[in-house]
Amino acid sequence: KQLSSSEVRQMFLDFFAQHGHKIEPSASLVPVDDPTLLWINSGVATMKKYFDGSVVPENPRLVSSQKSIRTNDIENVGKTARHHTLFEMLGNFSVGDYFKQDAIPWAWELLTSPDWYGLDPEKLYITVYPKDKEARQVWEKIGIKPDHILEDEDNFWDIGRGPSGPDSEIFYDRGQEMNNLSEDDPESYPGGENERYLEIWNIVFSQFNHTPEDTFEPLPHKNIDTGMGLERVVSIFQHARTNFETDLFLPLIKATEKVSDHKVYGKASADDVSFKVIADHIRAITFAIGDSALPSNVGRGYVIRRLIRRAVVNGKKLGINDAFLYQLVPTVGEIMQAYYPEVLANADYIASVIKSEEDRFNATLNDGLDLLNATIADTKANHSDKIDGEAAFKLYDTYGFPIELTREYAEDEGLQVDEDGFDAEMHKQQNRARNARGNTKSMGVQSDFWISVKDESEYVGYDNLVVDDAKAI
Ligand code: ATP
Ligand code: MG
Ligand code: MG
Ligand code: MG
Repeated sequence: KQLSSSEVRQMFLDFFAQHGHKIEPSASLVPVDDPTLLWINSGVATMKKYFDGSVVPENPRLVSSQKSIRTNDIENVGKTARHHTLFEMLGNFSVGDYFKQDAIPWAWELLTSPDWYGLDPEKLYITVYPKDKEARQVWEKIGIKPDHILEDEDNFWDIGRGPSGPDSEIFYDRGQEMNNLSEDDPESYPGGENERYLEIWNIVFSQFNHTPEDTFEPLPHKNIDTGMGLERVVSIFQHARTNFETDLFLPLIKATEKVSDHKVYGKASADDVSFKVIADHIRAITFAIGDSALPSNVGRGYVIRRLIRRAVVNGKKLGINDAFLYQLVPTVGEIMQAYYPEVLANADYIASVIKSEEDRFNATLNDGLDLLNATIADTKANHSDKIDGEAAFKLYDTYGFPIELTREYAEDEGLQVDEDGFDAEMHKQQNRARNARGNTKSMGVQSDFWISVKDESEYVGYDNLVVDDAKAI
């Protein structure tokens, strides 16, 4: 089957609407009334209010395609076939209504019925939590061969408190020809770090309450929450090697080719990473600004700034010297028009915010890159493997290079950054600022620069905690 991204999204919504689910719109990326989360990072993140009982939904069955941002995957972008900073999570939810016995057969019907996605069952693999015999039974009952059901200790969803439970993940076998590992590599199995078995869907059976005493009590009303990556599923229906060779990203790559210095996608792998990073980041930047976040030095704003600067540096690698990202906004708008008409409607505003940020960064970029390259050369000449912390701080402070960018550049050269040295410089800077301000608060608006990057990393840390440690979907 060949399906467009709009068709894949709509089919998911239609399928669950036919099974009595109410379609929830894609909520703002900026969490509402949730100080624990920097960005909406999954469908369920917008539905906490239903699952914690503070709001009773009109209908206990819900379905959505939710735009989500995951900053913890930023370094995977362009390197793996499947990770983005902004992606859409398709999900069906049961708030104390149906459970495993329905969620599993529905998932299977949607994936394999010729009336719906019609995927070949032979290519699908299921993982279950070893102790969750019930889930295995349901999968077997609907006819999945035992050798397509694997046990994985990691299949337990828990954020340390509240609803938690086992999950089942569904993988699509793209064939050994898509793999980056040899067939007998120990990581080459559904759930391992490889490019052959693509994780498409996570179905969480939240059936326990994780109590403050660290016990797991059965929930009186069990819940279902699921997450399926739209871009990954689309890559299957468009026979794409990575998510980027689909209708969601290719027009952005084409538009970037046009402004690049004769660079073409698919010729050199280093260039391809840059094309992918740009196509990925401009979507996240556009949607984040469209949802009223703005570039700054703290919190969400810092994430946007980082994404813009990272995209600009990758543009530079493709020989693009002038502001260009802002020109891609209408392309994002056109690609997403069917489900997100607001992007095109706000394109001028979004582009103007991006352009001024690009101009600001471009003004110092070349000087910064000169300093960075000189520092790298010095480091190597001194047979050191660490970039001087003072230089890294100067890049940050004077040239606007987010520390992550310097770190990445260093890593490309097999070097690290002297993080302690960087932190020490940052502290000195903050102390100077504090002394300059004195102890009064009478100075009015405080420049956001002086709020430390540490505050940001704490935020992102929490974001990571929720996504990684807890396997929140
Ligand atoms: P992976 O192991 O591939 O990093 P995950 O296990 O971290 O994925 P979940 O938290 O289970 O992902 O999220 C549910 C689904 O959302 C995944 O099965 C996948 O289809 C999709 N997804 C998760 N992270 C990303 C991402 N960074 N970019 C695109 N899709 C994603
Ligand atoms: Mg996973
Ligand atoms: Mg998962
Ligand atoms: Mg992940």
